[in-house]
Amino acid sequence: MTRCLSRRQFAESAAAAGVAAIAATVCAGEQGLAASDPAPRKKRIVDSHVHLKHGDAAGTEYTAETIVDIMDKVGIDKSIVFAMSTTTRRSIELAKTAVSKYPLRLIPYVYALPHYERPVIKEIEAALSEGLFRGIKIHAGQCTLAEYVVDPVLDVAGRYHVPCLIDCLGNHGAARRMAKAFPGTKLIIAHIGRYLSTDRRLLDQFIGLAAECDNVLLDVSGVVIVEKIAEAVRRIGSTRVVWGTDGPHPKPDTVTFARTELQKVQQLDLSREDKDNVLGEAILRLLGL
Ligand SMILES: [Zn+2]
Repeated sequence: MTRCLSRRQFAESAAAAGVAAIAATVCAGEQGLAASDPAPRKKRIVDSHVHLKHGDAAGTEYTAETIVDIMDKVGIDKSIVFAMSTTTRRSIELAKTAVSKYPLRLIPYVYALPHYERPVIKEIEAALSEGLFRGIKIHAGQCTLAEYVVDPVLDVAGRYHVPCLIDCLGNHGAARRMAKAFPGTKLIIAHIGRYLSTDRRLLDQFIGLAAECDNVLLDVSGVVIVEKIAEAVRRIGSTRVVWGTDGPHPKPDTVTFARTELQKVQQLDLSREDKDNVLGEAILRLLGL
């Protein structure tokens, strides 16, 4: 919304100087339209789960250039990026550097990881108060979801109106407790509960949690029982189901991986509106973009 206003203001001020046509071209081009094209704006595709640094054994890092190159080749408009396998402070630095290069393409989340020597919660608050960071990533593989660790983070997220993307490694009990204890905080449950899970009952439990709690959204990256994505949309609505790749991933290659993840949702038996929501509109609305 801010972006459109600033472009309009630019167009208005530029009109006097006779460059309004250029501004209109810039605006339309950014939205994927030719300046003369009267067709409705193309819905944006947003990858809501991209790692600047992964949680794999090597803590693999990807540059902003690599990520945007994949996006261009696959047709992804924006990506939400974050780092893990590092400190909160370093995750902020990595994301800031990436977003400074592609401010219109990348949206940063801060990584919440406790530290014995530093009050991490203050680092998270400082990052959020600047307005650049739009969410928080939490990963149960690198810190406990026990109340004494995770509750202060969920509280900050609620106060700053940003979501927490949480990989809870299948811990449905912890997810449920967090959702109930912080009804004012949006929780995006990564992978509908567990990465690459083939446990239908577990996935059903997490879809059920989202059906029960309005503040829970489901991230469908790393979901291998693809029909569960459509089922989630039917049970909780497409405005609370968000697509992501959990990439970049090198196999078979980064572009094919991302394209395959995109096609996973595109080929589902869902309405155009539902697919648009899952593929970008829902997360953009959640983040107020
Ligand atoms: Zn991930």
